[in-house]
Amino acid sequence: MKIIKKIKEMQKIADGVRMKGKIIGLVPTMGYFHKGHLSLMRQARRKSDLLVVSIFVNPTQFGPGEDFKSYPRDLRRDLRLAREIGVDVIFSPAVKEMYPKGFLTHVDVGEVGSILEGASRPGHFRGVATIVAKLFNAVKPHLAYFGQKDFQQSVVIKKMVEDLDMDVEIVVLPTIREKDGLATSSRNVYLTKKERKIAPVLYKSLKLAEKLIKEGERDSREIIRSMEELIEKEKLIKLEYIAITDPGTLKEIRRVKREVNVSLAAKIGRARLIDNITIKI
Ligand code: AMP
Repeated sequence: MKIIKKIKEMQKIADGVRMKGKIIGLVPTMGYFHKGHLSLMRQARRKSDLLVVSIFVNPTQFGPGEDFKSYPRDLRRDLRLAREIGVDVIFSPAVKEMYPKGFLTHVDVGEVGSILEGASRPGHFRGVATIVAKLFNAVKPHLAYFGQKDFQQSVVIKKMVEDLDMDVEIVVLPTIREKDGLATSSRNVYLTKKERKIAPVLYKSLKLAEKLIKEGERDSREIIRSMEELIEKEKLIKLEYIAITDPGTLKEIRRVKREVNVSLAAKIGRARLIDNITIKI
């Protein structure tokens, strides 16, 4: 497994692989691997001749007062896990390599990046879209893998690829969960024992929404009210939002139709957690 830190070197490797007509797969991450990351890598491994995993904690997607500095990092462990899966290249540039002095250009994805998570975290998706565009230019992947866990992120990236005619296929894979339903996340390490115990209520509220919809409830406000009622029983949780949206546009909808995405964000102690499910009737 090669560890590459420079963009130019990464591009040279990518050009060589492309010249031979081989397929490059990319899994972009911020490191501190968990089962969700590993699942993306395993799936990507099957389709890629050259599997590149990027590890880069991207400062531009963190707002002021967010956890950029304290975001968990453990490169040695990440390298061991990636090696076990058979990753070919770890691309882990320094912040200065990705954002040298004088850096000016950003990718702005418009409304789809300013609602939901974008409303709670202004500038977040501008940072995400910019770094993913830069990673695509460094790694030149045919396939790029993302998790449903960050559903809005996947919608934003797909829109960017479509609007900017990027020649890369976006693959979105299911959310990996702990046995009790909590979505695996690097930020789960922030949870105390007590907080960890109650955190699965977030997923339980999503499953409640699914049950209500399957039973015939169509009024989004009613569904959200029932979810809030369940979550509010846990006093340690500060709910930020629940939204029922069209999975294509992420616009909120009042009445449930064929396919909807239910998403939420909540703070539990130091951790800000997000989760979502897509429900088909
Ligand atoms: P991150 O390192 O948190 O930026 O995540 C890197 C990639 O892993 C993103 O595409 C995430 O959506 C994906 N991911 C994170 N958590 C999960 C999970 N629990 N299940 C599946 N994919 C995930």
